[in-house]
Amino acid sequence: MPVSSTLAPFGTSIFAEMTGLAMRHQAINLSQGFPDFDGPDFLKVAAVAAIRAGHNQYARSFGVPALNAAIARDFTTTGGYTITDPDTHITITSGCTEALPATILGLINPGDEVILIEPFYDSYPACIALARATPRVLTLRPDKSGTFALDPAELEAAFNTRTRAILLNTPHNPTGKVFSQAELSHISSLCIKHNVLCIVDEVYEKLVYSPALPHLHIASFPGMAERTITLSSLGKSFSVTGWKIGWAIAPPHLTAGVRAAHQFLTFATSTPMQHAAAHALASPDGAAYLKSLIAQYAASRDQLAAALTHAGFIPHRTDGTYFIMADASPVISRLAARPGLGHIQDDITLCRWMTEHLKVAAIPPTAFYINKAHGRHFVRFAFCKKPETLAAAAERLNMLCS
Ligand code: PMP
Ligand code: GLN
Repeated sequence: MPVSSTLAPFGTSIFAEMTGLAMRHQAINLSQGFPDFDGPDFLKVAAVAAIRAGHNQYARSFGVPALNAAIARDFTTTGGYTITDPDTHITITSGCTEALPATILGLINPGDEVILIEPFYDSYPACIALARATPRVLTLRPDKSGTFALDPAELEAAFNTRTRAILLNTPHNPTGKVFSQAELSHISSLCIKHNVLCIVDEVYEKLVYSPALPHLHIASFPGMAERTITLSSLGKSFSVTGWKIGWAIAPPHLTAGVRAAHQFLTFATSTPMQHAAAHALASPDGAAYLKSLIAQYAASRDQLAAALTHAGFIPHRTDGTYFIMADASPVISRLAARPGLGHIQDDITLCRWMTEHLKVAAIPPTAFYINKAHGRHFVRFAFCKKPETLAAAAERLNMLCS
């Protein structure tokens, strides 16, 4: 029994599993969310320059000063509160993936309850388990307009005297939901009423497509600055998911908890990449790149949504992130009725079959649910791919219609 009893129930991450399966079957990989195109040249030049300039030893544990300062400025100019001292409010981590356990292990006690919203990013329940805390699960369900939403009464009922934190993700992976002003106000008022921390994962903060639904930092809502830990990272915004530069923004009393764990998780993060990341956030090159990326992704979203609709899926509306959550019920029923395909009954059997036979890989979202029944008729597709990749996938998905 080599795997610890805490982690054994979580198995292998669905992202590794589906990318592995896609590679084995030479399928177009719309499963794991990473671009199939390279990050911008100006960033690569900045990273090489940082290495050549000798930024190659351990960084300051909580980040190189230029990056802490660049994040503070970016947070403030995008609607966050003013950070007067980036060195006491910001901790640089190895991707948001590290910011999550640093925050949860550093601030949550064994036995505490953490409100977890499903579908969730797969590492959340594992981090809660590592902290010996208990998840209290709420489900996002599509409303009449197809937008995923929480039931306000269920949300209120989830808060109790044992609640230490709510773990929020906006823009939301996998549904593409961007939480509205009204939804964030409701969550804020409950956090304040019950004296609860808000851990908010904003890794897709730059990837929003609907002017009516901008990304909002919940940390800047009244009464929230002192109880919010805002997590984010560079990878999605600048198409460098492999760089693993992330961060946690919080007032000093909460930053103390994040750093208490961070010093023993990784101590510090790649020094030259932090210098390049500072350049991405602070330079006009970075702003211009983001503008073009958002336009590209808006077109890719529409291209993929049209292909999915044509193939018989019902795509839900994506206002942010680079994912589409699609209702696969019509496709599942149609395939299951074909001779020899009666075993296709849910997201897992469908995604496996699509990868092996259609040569298009996608994510079965039950991996993101504790209540598996809520997720078994969905499939998540990533559109952070070249237009020609999406066109090739569309051609293969068309075979579902024949
Ligand atoms: N949170 C969410 C919601 C994500 O989709 C991802 C993507 N991997 C992460 C956190 C991890 O971010 P990073 O790649 O910066 O570690
Ligand atoms: N965030 C990416 C996704 O949701 C992948 C993350 C990972 O591979 N761990 O697809």
